[in-house]
Amino acid sequence: MNLRNLRVIAFVSFPSRELQESNPEAYQGAVSSIFAQYPNAGTCAHCGMGIIHNVICKTPEGAEVCIGTQCAERIGADPRAVRAGITSEERERRDARQEALAAEHRAEVAEREARVAGRREKFADILAGLADRAVADRDTYNPNRETFAESLANQLVERPLSPRQAFFVAKMLSDTGRRNKKNAATWDEIENRVQS
Ligand SMILES: [Zn+2]
Repeated sequence: MNLRNLRVIAFVSFPSRELQESNPEAYQGAVSSIFAQYPNAGTCAHCGMGIIHNVICKTPEGAEVCIGTQCAERIGADPRAVRAGITSEERERRDARQEALAAEHRAEVAEREARVAGRREKFADILAGLADRAVADRDTYNPNRETFAESLANQLVERPLSPRQAFFVAKMLSDTGRRNKKNAATWDEIENRVQS
């Protein structure tokens, strides 16, 4: 019989020897109901050994076969289902759920990347100014620490800045560090832009 591409449809275990000894009638009843549902249970269709734990499978041709758990794994009868003790259908549902979650995650990552790329382009001039400022500040700061200019730049590519942060960006990008008549228009424009 072709035992390739099996689908796992159920797991059935015969009752224990303890039950056989303590309650032969219950044992017989349980065994009979297993055989009523799965006439081939108890013998591995792959190796012919007697088995307690049966993996009930369907062949691609629609035949029902019973296989021991070890043989089921060995011959590749949906190994992930066998190992998890679930049917192929349950395993497929689980895979679909995981794939949906992964797709959702990929979409979120792509969305974030697109947003950051868009903001990098939108604020290219300001980011360049902040990068220059960060280089200039490098000497006075611990070289391994993020400078204030870098911190503002990193936040700006993610989201709008607060009014207070916007003030510091305008200050850093101005020649004098102060708002005056000459630079007022540029200063205000920068402050407004980085809050968007
Ligand atoms: Zn076997």
